Amino acid sequence: MKYVDEFRDGGLARRIADRIAAEVDPARRYHFMEFCGGHTHAIARYGVAELLPPGVRMIHGPGCPVCVLPIGRIDQAIGLALERGAIVCTYGDTMRVPASQGLSLTKAKARGGDIRMIHSATDALRIARAEPQREVVFFAIGFETTTPPTALAIRQAAQEDLANFSVLCCHVLTPSAITHILESVAAHERGAVPIDGFIGPAHVSIVIGSQPYEPFARDYRKPVVIAGFEPLDVMQAILMLVRQVNEGRFEVENEFTRAVTRAGNRAAQAVIDEVFEIRDAFEWRGLGEVARSALKIRAGFGTFDAERRFDLSYRPVPDHKQCECGAILRGVKRPTDCKLFGTVCTPENPMGSCMVSSEGACAAHYSYGRFRDIPVVVP
Ligand code: SF4
Repeated sequence: MKYVDEFRDGGLARRIADRIAAEVDPARRYHFMEFCGGHTHAIARYGVAELLPPGVRMIHGPGCPVCVLPIGRIDQAIGLALERGAIVCTYGDTMRVPASQGLSLTKAKARGGDIRMIHSATDALRIARAEPQREVVFFAIGFETTTPPTALAIRQAAQEDLANFSVLCCHVLTPSAITHILESVAAHERGAVPIDGFIGPAHVSIVIGSQPYEPFARDYRKPVVIAGFEPLDVMQAILMLVRQVNEGRFEVENEFTRAVTRAGNRAAQAVIDEVFEIRDAFEWRGLGEVARSALKIRAGFGTFDAERRFDLSYRPVPDHKQCECGAILRGVKRPTDCKLFGTVCTPENPMGSCMVSSEGACAAHYSYGRFRDIPVVVP
């Protein structure tokens, strides 16, 4: 583990922190959004925010896959299990996201739904092969990182002519969400937070490359630094963003050169493009309907599309009235701004999606106790 240890070296972190403190302009404030939940988790886990000078504020973005999943989509998956008798397979965190009527997939399972936690898309294929008399639906969520395995599973099902397998596709797209956030800022929408630059996602960028972020630098004049998930990656990315802001540059820089290229993983992109096409619009928790921000299964693979197979229609459902997940996912509020944080809502009893996954802002703040020792800085 020597390699990882090097990226967690406290002495080096303090030296980068000193450099950031030396280079920030005390007369201005810096607002940087870490889009990805993995970075939110790293910032909370390693106390990165405490190492930053008061003028640098990190804003949590909507890049946690289960956090942005709207209630209406979870209701669809629950309905398939409870009302249509399907075996619904999904990843672990998705099981606990609150849905309508006090349910979640875990609670629906307790009511008799055949809902199974899986570790990969191929697990769902295995279940479909083993139970040919049952309908097996893979509830597929996530950003570009988890999309290629879903595409491969659908292609494999087509090759095997697996008649009882389908996918409820809720894969979403990172660049569309960043565009939506930037458009909100540009339009001075109520509640839109000022953003001086982005820390670009790590795993997503391995798949899509750094090129899709170039319009954000060129058209919106916002610097982007793609960073790995280790604390020194994040610290270095913040230093690179501070330098871009100070020098009036708007560029896409890549701190995560050990894994990310400009072009990304072309083989993964090809299989995504073969199986999926872009939806006209998709509801995100917190962001609402976002144009061209998610994928659907192409007509050529339509027999594996659970929405077509079960003739599903979509019904949007509002969040719990007191849950601030929507505002937190837009970067407008912090977890501690929610009245339910740490009292009614905890990781053991999540009331909203941001408290479910370790990548969720509320869960990250709660798990590492950062809310106890950081004064909330008002922008
Ligand atoms: S603490 Fe719970 S209820 Fe409040 S915003 Fe976070 S997830 Fe929602």
